[in-house]
Amino acid sequence: MKAISKIIIISVLALMTLMLFNAFLHTPSIDKNPTPINFTIDEQRAINHLSKSIEFKTISNQNASSKDLKEFLDFIDWIKISYKLVVENTSLEMFNQTLLFRWEGKDSNLQPILLTGHYDVVPVIPGTENKWQEPPFSGKIDSGYIWGRGALDDKSGVIGILEAVTYLMEEGFQPERTVYLSFGHDEEIGGVNGAALVAKHLADREIQLEWSLDEGSFLLGGFIPNVDKLVAAINVAEKGSVTLQVVGKAEGGHSSMPTSQSAVGHLSKALAKLEDNRMSGELEGLSLQMFDEMSRHMPFIYKIAFANRWLFGGLIDSYLAKIPATNAMIRTTTAPTMLSASIKTNVLPIEAVGTVNFRIHPRNSVEDVFDHVRELVESDDVEIREMYYSGRPASEVSSWESSGYKVIESSVREIYGDVVVAPGLMIAGSDSRHYGKVADDAYRFNPFPLSNEEFAGFHGTNERIETDAFIKGIKTYIRIIEVGASK
Ligand SMILES: [Zn+2]
Repeated sequence: MKAISKIIIISVLALMTLMLFNAFLHTPSIDKNPTPINFTIDEQRAINHLSKSIEFKTISNQNASSKDLKEFLDFIDWIKISYKLVVENTSLEMFNQTLLFRWEGKDSNLQPILLTGHYDVVPVIPGTENKWQEPPFSGKIDSGYIWGRGALDDKSGVIGILEAVTYLMEEGFQPERTVYLSFGHDEEIGGVNGAALVAKHLADREIQLEWSLDEGSFLLGGFIPNVDKLVAAINVAEKGSVTLQVVGKAEGGHSSMPTSQSAVGHLSKALAKLEDNRMSGELEGLSLQMFDEMSRHMPFIYKIAFANRWLFGGLIDSYLAKIPATNAMIRTTTAPTMLSASIKTNVLPIEAVGTVNFRIHPRNSVEDVFDHVRELVESDDVEIREMYYSGRPASEVSSWESSGYKVIESSVREIYGDVVVAPGLMIAGSDSRHYGKVADDAYRFNPFPLSNEEFAGFHGTNERIETDAFIKGIKTYIRIIEVGASK
């Protein structure tokens, strides 16, 4: 008996030692900060340019025909006047109101790169204008911020890239690789008349990009639990989307004589079942790479868990699944969004319709979502219908070991110092769904640091960017282009 307890105690101690040992080795993959780099740029000019760009009401309404074309054309004219050096040193082609600049490289054998953003913005929700501290199209520069719609999404990207290129041209920089700059006018409504045509144009000319860099995640503080550094997630993929209608069916009639199961009852049960049985998600592939790197910057207790996933894998998965932001990164999400049934209080509906939006993880296909839903809830009383405009698969997953990724990663670290850089998954959509078709690797990242509170302005109220954040982002773009176009 004694011998057995001895063996158990020794085994437990050995196991604990192994776990601690693994946790000690669970350190950041790059633990030495690079030599910091700085550029002296005309900060006031850049800030004024972003401010001015916000004044153009380049709004993409859901109904494309209600667009104010003049605002777009005025914006384009203003770009040509404000960025004369860029216009002089490049060739420009237009795809409707999307601009594509080509900055010729010295070595035509090298694959080109693309830096891109969009200058259309989402509307301000009517009635919320007075909730803005500064009017949404004022571009006001005040208390260390530039205010207005587009300050984050994505005029800071567009102006940031143009300022970076201007700086490099003023310095006499000559790219080895050809650099394309593309600025979309319809990203917020799918990019079909802008980015899609640019991608087709490149494909028709058999131009395959080495990599592209589009909007995506920012350098976020306080976004990933228990990581207190800024996290720069360079998104290497974006989720897809499909919207389904779950339809509960029953005989109609007068509400004074209901049947035992109404259409609403069938629908409710089906929706509850869908929420209780989400599509499976776990740490593997891209999600694993992302959380593995982030966990290396967490307190020791979390390192014990992440460094010993063979033991704590299930625990980690259920922990991540509880937080909406991390849950969205590990699985295809299920979101019931709209409901409709009877037209009158005393009329039993023949159909009760629930609309459910799924955001598809790269490991799943649109078909997987259908199969999952059908298997769970389809019956004689519940029908599944596809919404006619939905059904977009997740993008391909780009490499996080390519030279393009390394250029972006090292540039971020050279400008920002001690930050966490990891590959990420974009949970919203971007024009990169088009550019990805003509790029070996498509990356999605905005090099601007942002607090959680500032992030709330994204498509929301009080959208703004800190002037210092904007300037540092421009410097990151400069470094990315300088290194990325050099080899
Ligand atoms: Zn955007």
